[in-house]
Amino acid sequence: MGLLTKGSPLTWAETIPHIEYIKKHGIKQFINLYHRLKSRHGDQLKWGDEIEYTIIKFDHENKKVRVSCRAEELLNRLQAEEQVNAMLGTANRFLWRPEFGAYMIEGTPGMPYGGLIACFNIVEANMKLRREVVKKLLKKDETCLSISFPSLGVPGFTFPDVPADKTNDDAANSIFWPEQAVFLGHPRFKNLTKNIKGRRGSKVAINVPIFKDTNTPSPYVEDLSAFGGPDDTRDAKPDHIYMDHMGFGMGCCCLQVTFQAVNVDEARWLYDQLTPITPILLALSAATPIFRGKLSNVDSRWDIISASVDDRTLEERGLEPLKNSKWVIDKSRYDSTDCYIYPCSVGYNDIPLQYDETIYQQLIDGNIDEPLAKHIAHMFIRDPHQVFRERIEQDDEKSSEHFETIQSSNWMNMRFKPPPPDAPEIGWRVEFRPTEVQLTDFENAAYCCFVVLLTRMIISFRLTYLMPISMVTENMKRAQQIDAVLSQKFLFRKGLAECKSAPENLKGSEKCGPPSQDIEEMSIDEIINGKKNGFPGLISLIRQFLDSADVDVDTRCTISQYLNFISKRATGEISTLAHWTREFVQSHPAYKHDSDVNDTIVYDLMKKMDAISSGEDHCDKLLGCYRSKTDHAISAAVRKAEEHMIVSSQKRAH
Ligand code: GLU
Ligand code: MG
Repeated sequence: MGLLTKGSPLTWAETIPHIEYIKKHGIKQFINLYHRLKSRHGDQLKWGDEIEYTIIKFDHENKKVRVSCRAEELLNRLQAEEQVNAMLGTANRFLWRPEFGAYMIEGTPGMPYGGLIACFNIVEANMKLRREVVKKLLKKDETCLSISFPSLGVPGFTFPDVPADKTNDDAANSIFWPEQAVFLGHPRFKNLTKNIKGRRGSKVAINVPIFKDTNTPSPYVEDLSAFGGPDDTRDAKPDHIYMDHMGFGMGCCCLQVTFQAVNVDEARWLYDQLTPITPILLALSAATPIFRGKLSNVDSRWDIISASVDDRTLEERGLEPLKNSKWVIDKSRYDSTDCYIYPCSVGYNDIPLQYDETIYQQLIDGNIDEPLAKHIAHMFIRDPHQVFRERIEQDDEKSSEHFETIQSSNWMNMRFKPPPPDAPEIGWRVEFRPTEVQLTDFENAAYCCFVVLLTRMIISFRLTYLMPISMVTENMKRAQQIDAVLSQKFLFRKGLAECKSAPENLKGSEKCGPPSQDIEEMSIDEIINGKKNGFPGLISLIRQFLDSADVDVDTRCTISQYLNFISKRATGEISTLAHWTREFVQSHPAYKHDSDVNDTIVYDLMKKMDAISSGEDHCDKLLGCYRSKTDHAISAAVRKAEEHMIVSSQKRAH
């Protein structure tokens, strides 16, 4: 989830006097880094996934499920292997990192995947093994699920069971969330929680619209008196599920994919091209319909996380006239990006950007071009929440810590990532961040490979999906609606458009034209599977790309399974996890059609999910019928054949 350096963390009050200094030096660090590495060229298209998992504990006797707050203990054991490998000089199969919740762990492949198409065949096997390795460390009644837990914040939701203590400032005075449910093995998570509350001037308020079922009272006003007094619950809105802690959002799980680009230009270009795709993936991956044990009127975590880290003051939120704050800011620091960053995309930047003139000027004086300077300056309207007393003074030539502390707490749908100063093997990257994590490894591999294939296809055909950036914001809202795949239309480019101004390495040279007006509303099915006499569909474009590449039989088979699956999710033939979960709840005998998803239902839901995720049970409605040929390694013969093909096609091109 971001920077994990250590030291003595400053409180919000202690941070204030250092904010300007941190920002000034963060910008200086970025400028230095940019110029040192801007001409870095020729990095391979490497990529990798990140999956966040929830550790669950069943109480079979009482038919209750809790999250098991053992992440720290598990991580110690999982990371021990990394230390041994470092000593022996052997490769890691996975890397494990902490996440916000004391019950969460985040896993990535040990090494990034490379440019060979055959890599697509080893993703799922790595995900499977990753899960098995965690499961081996679990106790009898525990399991590891790649989901966002539906009962976060209900009484007794953690194991060990620690009640929330609203007098505890470290727990941000939540009436639902105990401090112990935050990962305390690293100070980052508690700091962020406290300092977000400090900056905002009150605890966060998350109000998710309740799903109005036949027996749901209307207006729906929850009696919260058992949790706290009127002061503790004053932000609770009628007809909403109320939550008051960062964990309700950041304690949700996702699937992210990071790509390394050939150079900085390609990274900036990809950032832009993938941005309009983010809402499409959010809708297609919808997996989170229940919050605090209640059916909500949305299918995804996005706005909930956004509100859970919303550190804007009342003035910044436009609720009081500006006096002490500089701007009214439309979005929380977790939300969709406000601007494209590749020079030729700026015609599509139609959202007014707030930024500090001094910071912007510092970037311009540091020879950062205008679009990038605006992006960075706009990110820097956010204050740092993690400042360590010992680490304020830094060598700006060598460190990028002050830059990173702000960059890594701007949680947007896409992230543009400069190479780290101390890892010469890593180049310019972009991260694709909206996808909701899926229940099974097959699905996660399918979404991950789909996004990577999309990238390869876009680069190879130099296609452009740009639209005014405000439309992406609009699409993100639509993507979260119930069954958005079927119920919503999305603004999208009408036909196929080639990008005339793709970076040089993509062989583009022409000047950028005026922004295209060729945008219409399309369903997810039309965007993914194509429209008669219109947009051909992302899947058929990917298939065309694959036809032009040399792909071994097994990999092609696996990719086909993934594409078929995504295609069927887009038509609705296969349900999203959100849809499937709603159906499960609605047909459960203990459900009273009053939006309340009680312990018994959640217990049965988790048991079913566990069975499906482990392969014990197969669910056609959720997964369709598939047989992936995923394998643990690329065989030497396949590797040799593909490498040979690449070399000969390069020779032909010269
Ligand atoms: N868990 C967050 C999400 O679901 C992401 C945290 C991170 O940036 O790793 O979007
Ligand atoms: Mg994470």
